[in-house]
Order: sequence, then C-alpha cells, then structure tokens
Amino acid sequence: MRLQRWNTVTSVGQYVKSLLLLELLRGMLLTGRHLFSRKITVQYPEEKTPQSVRFRGLHALRRYPNGEERCIACKLCEAVCPALAITIDSELNDDGTRRTTRYDIDLFKCIYCGFCEEACPVDAIVETRIFEYHFEERSESIMTKEQLLAVGDREEAQIAADRAADAAYR
Ligand code: SF4
Ligand code: SF4
Repeated sequence: MRLQRWNTVTSVGQYVKSLLLLELLRGMLLTGRHLFSRKITVQYPEEKTPQSVRFRGLHALRRYPNGEERCIACKLCEAVCPALAITIDSELNDDGTRRTTRYDIDLFKCIYCGFCEEACPVDAIVETRIFEYHFEERSESIMTKEQLLAVGDREEAQIAADRAADAAYR
C-alpha cells in the first residue's frame, strides 16, 4: 500500500517536471555555458596537442651507445603480443650470444597496446612518439628489423629522454 502511494507521488512529480520543461531548461543552460567558454579546437596539423612521455606510436628497436643491438632474441615480446603482430627468427652467434635474424612487426595487426615494450627485459623494443605515417602498398605495413633499427637510431635521443622522465615519475 505504502509502495503504491510512493509510486503515485513519483509519477505526479515527474508529470509536473515535464510540464515545466525542467530537463529542457537544464540542457539549454549547459549549452549556454559552453557557448561563451574558451574554445579548445586544435588547428591540426599546424598545432599539436601535448604528448605523454609514455605515448605509444610507431615501434623502434634500440641499440646500446656502442652500437650493439639491445635485443637478445628472448621472444618475450612475440609471446606476449595479443595481436600476433611480431615474428622473430634467431640464431646463435659464434660468441654464444643469441641475436635475431628476422624481427617483423605487422602494423596492420598491431593494436599499440605496449605489451611488447613492457615485456622486454633489455628495453630493446619501444614505441616512439611518431604517429604520423602512412603506407602506399599493403606489404609496407610490415616493418622489418632494419627499418625498426633505423627508427631507433633516428629517435634515440627522444626515446632516452622520455624513458628518463618516465622513470622519474615512478
Ligand atoms: S604494441 Fe601490442 S599489439 Fe603491437 S606489437 Fe606490441 S604487443 Fe603486439
Ligand atoms: S625485443 Fe626484447 S622481448 Fe623482444 S625478443 Fe628482443 S629482447 Fe626479447
């Protein structure tokens, strides 16, 4: 009985509210508030939004300062990749170290989750700040080891600075 009375009161309240157009007025008030506030439209590509030091863009393979490849072909990145985008072949060198003979990333499969760089024990595979790139042939979506190393060589200063800044946050 009490519940029935409560339902009746609620329905009457809703009816009065709808008559007074309160929802509509509240919506117009919100629109009006934004009409005069500062606009935040970014004129891309002349203007760019700030990027995080953890931005996950195009991949790169890094080297040590002496030019040696960091990657030790442990294949953790390949195993952890949820999109199966990484393909690695490897072999043993004469000095007993293992190195990749093939390191491909299919950028059409990649979902830029960052798991590969998180899994890498030697900070070899990383995602850079580069997000403006395109392909003209389908086959160009596969980045080879040489291409990844070239991006790493070109971006090393920015990558090292970002990783140092990120470590300072933690
Ligand atoms: S970012 Fe994610 S999806 Fe892309 S290669 Fe790395 S682990 Fe795979
Ligand atoms: S990039 Fe890192 S995780 Fe992937 S195979 Fe090389 S060392 Fe292992």
